[in-house]
Amino acid sequence: MTSRESCLLCQIIGNKIPSYKVYEDDLTLAVLDVNGANPGHCFVMPKEHYPIIEQVPDDVLGNLFIVANKISSAIFETLKVQGTNIFVRNGVPAGQTVAHFMVNVIPRQENDGVNLQWKPKQLSEEEVSTIELKLKEEIKNTGVQKIEKTEKPESAPKEVVTQSTPAIDDEDDYFMKQLRRIP
Ligand SMILES: [Zn+2]
Repeated sequence: MTSRESCLLCQIIGNKIPSYKVYEDDLTLAVLDVNGANPGHCFVMPKEHYPIIEQVPDDVLGNLFIVANKISSAIFETLKVQGTNIFVRNGVPAGQTVAHFMVNVIPRQENDGVNLQWKPKQLSEEEVSTIELKLKEEIKNTGVQKIEKTEKPESAPKEVVTQSTPAIDDEDDYFMKQLRRIP
């Protein structure tokens, strides 16, 4: 693994390498990738050096994904794209080339030639249920804070659909319109 001193992203964070910074706070930095998949491709990184996602503290990770989401929204608004991919290359077999965790935010247009497709693999029922059991057990051991939805009190006013809400036939249609930013 690359050390902090020779880490490309640490050098960008430390201003030893010039970059196009689109957002910065105490924990997170986001820069434009000049060799990105599409114009506007950003990478969002923690300012501390963590090689892989497992090492990133929860609060840092939370902030980082919130920033990635805001950048995605800004990309939609300013670059008039039809979608974004927000993804992580975690580990060398997953395509990670720099040993400093980051999240990619990639603007997408239809037929833009960016390929993130894979061939689906058909698993047997036994394979799926074996993996399910193993994962369930291991996830319990990670100390994840399970969030339970609390029921709203009965007296809470129901949400009122106003006339300004566009009449949309079903949820899928609404989803597609949101995604494509169709008014
Ligand atoms: Zn680094």
